[in-house]
Amino acid sequence: MDSVHGIRYTTPLMTKENLKGMPLRELEPKLMALGHPAFRARQLFRWVYQRGQNEFENMTDLSKVFRKELSEKFCLASLSVDRAEHSADGTIKYLVMLEDGQKVETVFIPAEDRNTVCISTQVGCKMGCKFCATGYQKFTRNLESWEIVEQCFLPFPRPVTNVVMMGMGEPLDNYDELIKALEILQDPLGVKIGKRHITVSTVGLSPKIEDLAKKGLANIAISLHGTTQEQRSAIMPVSRKHPLEELIVLCQRLKFKGRRRITFEYVLIKGVNDSNEDALRLAALVKNIRCKINLLAYNENPFCSYERPSEKRVLSFQSILLEKNLTATYRKSRGADISAACGQLRTASLNRVSQNAARSLAFSPEP
Ligand code: SF4
Repeated sequence: MDSVHGIRYTTPLMTKENLKGMPLRELEPKLMALGHPAFRARQLFRWVYQRGQNEFENMTDLSKVFRKELSEKFCLASLSVDRAEHSADGTIKYLVMLEDGQKVETVFIPAEDRNTVCISTQVGCKMGCKFCATGYQKFTRNLESWEIVEQCFLPFPRPVTNVVMMGMGEPLDNYDELIKALEILQDPLGVKIGKRHITVSTVGLSPKIEDLAKKGLANIAISLHGTTQEQRSAIMPVSRKHPLEELIVLCQRLKFKGRRRITFEYVLIKGVNDSNEDALRLAALVKNIRCKINLLAYNENPFCSYERPSEKRVLSFQSILLEKNLTATYRKSRGADISAACGQLRTASLNRVSQNAARSLAFSPEP
């Protein structure tokens, strides 16, 4: 394989059982079944997730015999980077190659006070949101827990402090693997990212939201993007199965510990959901919910025909929410000069593959 932007490809061929992606509650009994004490699992866990060590032989405080046994029976898989796009604002978008040749996107977003990584949870997505490039790609498969966690270990220029599950896929549609990944991410012996610094974003799979809130492993962000059932289902087909009213009633019922509150993500799309009436309806919908609202202006991309509203329109929408005493922030898009909208880089890559395939078919000699 080759290297791009100085990044080496390191994906091993997985012929042995991979120990990555197991939370301690799974790793401990696995090693104990082989006759090792539980603390060996904790040592191994720290080597893998705090020191990023992928070679058993380099884990110097483990006995040589134990390291040899681990190498013979298990492997520690890692991901490779197929391509990286660097934005002038420091955002880096990675097209990540998986073991089976599938690709997903991971975005690194540096800021003064934090370095956030936006992680994918599925290859493609079943939700089919009309404004999203990923929504136009067919769903291929769920990511395994290790593939979710491992996106925090790409060659970023700075250490990761925050994680958002807002990349490709609907995290709650891959629930069991998501939970294992969250356990590893927030474990003080694991990646050690505080629960308050991890956010799971969902289009609103109501039953799973309730369970995730009970587990308290992460903040929850709900993509609302519409203020009536009709408007929301027109751009988010999931709303037909999990109606807006059901979602709002659920959010009113959710209990959070301490100062936690739910986040509503609202992407303003020109002429679709960005009117003053929408702002008033949004304020009424969330008035009994402990929440904050993140407003975003639609990130135009070649795969969808929706348009970005003017800055003035977004600010006017925000001011209506603020007048209603709601917490409403307006996040400027990062990485505007690269393919930063979810799914764009992979879609472009898929298009390149199919164009190349079409070209090679066109020129293949007849048998
Ligand atoms: S916005 Fe999220 S849930 Fe909707 S299609 Fe895109 S990736 Fe899937």
